[in-house]
Amino acid sequence: MSSIADNIESVTRRIQKATLAAGRPVESVHLLAVSKTRPAADLREAFAAGQRAFGESYLQEALDKIAALADLDGLEWHFIGPIQSNKTRQIAASFDWVHGVDRLKIARRLSEQREPQLPPLNICLQVNIDNEASKSGCRLEELPELVAGVGQLANLRLRGLMAIPDPQQDDQGLRSSFHRLADALAELRHRFPDAGPLDTLSMGMSDDLELAIAEGATWVRVGTALFGARN
Ligand SMILES: *Cc1c(COP(=O)(O)O)cnc(C)c1O
Repeated sequence: MSSIADNIESVTRRIQKATLAAGRPVESVHLLAVSKTRPAADLREAFAAGQRAFGESYLQEALDKIAALADLDGLEWHFIGPIQSNKTRQIAASFDWVHGVDRLKIARRLSEQREPQLPPLNICLQVNIDNEASKSGCRLEELPELVAGVGQLANLRLRGLMAIPDPQQDDQGLRSSFHRLADALAELRHRFPDAGPLDTLSMGMSDDLELAIAEGATWVRVGTALFGARN
């Protein structure tokens, strides 16, 4: 079995290869290590191999790991799960990024509950890019209103968009989903120049990160390819 350090190296190589093939600068794509369900010891191992950004989906589990790893300097915590309104206070207190915001009510609470002495919380709006019945995320048509609202919130920094395409599609279908998300971001940047940096596309996972990078991903969220299959 390969070690976590080996896996980080091979995923990093995949990212670099895809980034260069797309004619993009190597530093333009970041690796988010999705560590949900993995023990703190695995994150420590990834940290020793140079990984700093970790993505978690379950709040209590994440808070336990954040506490267990408080001795490590420079960790960056990303919340990537669905967000219930009774969880926003703890998310605003403990995370650097939130990728799954899909309604204004949640964004307002995160901004109100973010301590103003902390840096603004980085936000991505999640889009249900293939209009799947069971998936979180807003519809593309709802984005302008959301961006206009979230762009006003003092303690948030609107970084961009996040999506998880319908995994049943073939490569061409996945690529077209990523492409639609990238188009939507470009349009929003043009229409709302003051809403935030809008410099981020959080898209691509273990099996499709190359396709996402070809379409402009700036964060790929990778779990299985780093840590192995989840229980
Ligand atoms: C679990 C998860 C991932 C990682 O998926 P892998 O296929 O294991 O790489 C990425 N994004 C989100 C939102 C997730 O919940």
